[in-house]
Amino acid sequence: MENLIIENNIQSYASVNGRFGEYGGMYVPPVLEGKLTELADKFMKYTRESSFEQEFAYYLKNFVGRPSPLYYAHRLSQHVGSKIYLKREDLNHTGSHKINNTIGQILLAKRMGATEIVAETGAGQHGVATATAAALFGMKCKVFMGAKDAERQKMNVSRMKLLGAELVITHSGRATLKDAVDAALGYYIENPHVFYLLGSQVGPHPYPTMVGYFQSVIGKEAKKQFIEREGRLPDNLFACIGGGSNAIGLFDDFLNDHEVAIHAAEGGGNGELGQTAATLSLGKVGVFQGTYSYALMDENGDVYPSHSIAAGLDYPGVSPQHALLKDTGRAHYHIVTDEEAIHGFKLLSHLEGIIPAIESSHAVALAEKILKGKAGQVSIINLSGRGDKDVERDLM
Ligand SMILES: *Cc1c(COP(=O)(O)O)cnc(C)c1O
Repeated sequence: MENLIIENNIQSYASVNGRFGEYGGMYVPPVLEGKLTELADKFMKYTRESSFEQEFAYYLKNFVGRPSPLYYAHRLSQHVGSKIYLKREDLNHTGSHKINNTIGQILLAKRMGATEIVAETGAGQHGVATATAAALFGMKCKVFMGAKDAERQKMNVSRMKLLGAELVITHSGRATLKDAVDAALGYYIENPHVFYLLGSQVGPHPYPTMVGYFQSVIGKEAKKQFIEREGRLPDNLFACIGGGSNAIGLFDDFLNDHEVAIHAAEGGGNGELGQTAATLSLGKVGVFQGTYSYALMDENGDVYPSHSIAAGLDYPGVSPQHALLKDTGRAHYHIVTDEEAIHGFKLLSHLEGIIPAIESSHAVALAEKILKGKAGQVSIINLSGRGDKDVERDLM
């Protein structure tokens, strides 16, 4: 890993052999260790080939619709009293940033000779993006989803089925994302021919490095677009954080630009343990689902159930890279409650004619709070997805 990272990204926050400082690593049973080590090697090998880079760029442009616009939100800016741009990941094909990573991983799966893709999904956005990529490349696809999530994200369940994916609904635990990950990992261990396409910057090495790499296109584009418009770097970046992939996607290219302040909004739920998904703000350090990072657990290492109004943020673990960014103080992590997120959801819809995903609404609410009255500053909010999936829920 280290060579890949050092060539592309000269910074001390990056992964060295799957470690971000003391965080990250590969805490898995021996059967998985071999598979993941091979995956890490193949990721290194193939993503360095120019044919991979070209194919990835081709699909991002022609299938996903990149680059996504950096849109000046003039009415929101007026309302807040500070200039705000939106990085429009909501305009990507399938409606969120997730497709960037699924295209990257499926190109890797193809080169590794996999014939079946397995994935977990929370909000259903990653499941839809994976089912889409699998259809695009003619691969079999199985998606694991918690029953509670399937219930609150019905539209995405229908989309996955239409795209030809087999949906496996899990009822264990709280029937949300954590349980879907467990089930998907179990299937992956038992079936040697499958490729596990993980949807966020979590889990064992090499996933955090890999997902961060494929999502870094967001920040690379945003930086160029912002400099074209404003002739300088932004003062602040905002993103919501579930596992951490859209956030690191935007932040990555700015980590060494220390004049740029970095803020992430965690799914706060109602702000209390057992009723929150604010992992970095309220969690403890330990091993959870294959990686050493923060997790919502007690002193015995028992994991609290998570809760967020946003299925995509409802996960008790978090990216090891964000754990390092928190500890070093390079990025700031804030609790944004369900109620504040609903406010952000309505605010952007009313002011800009853009219905954000309830996940992304957390970032909107945080930006409003932090930027209030900061005239003269210019900021970017990562609008990780669109809210079509959320309009039929009773958020009004
Ligand atoms: C999945 C999802 C998220 C949260 O996942 P990250 O890996 O933290 O980005 C945020 N927004 C949307 C729209 C999502 O679908």
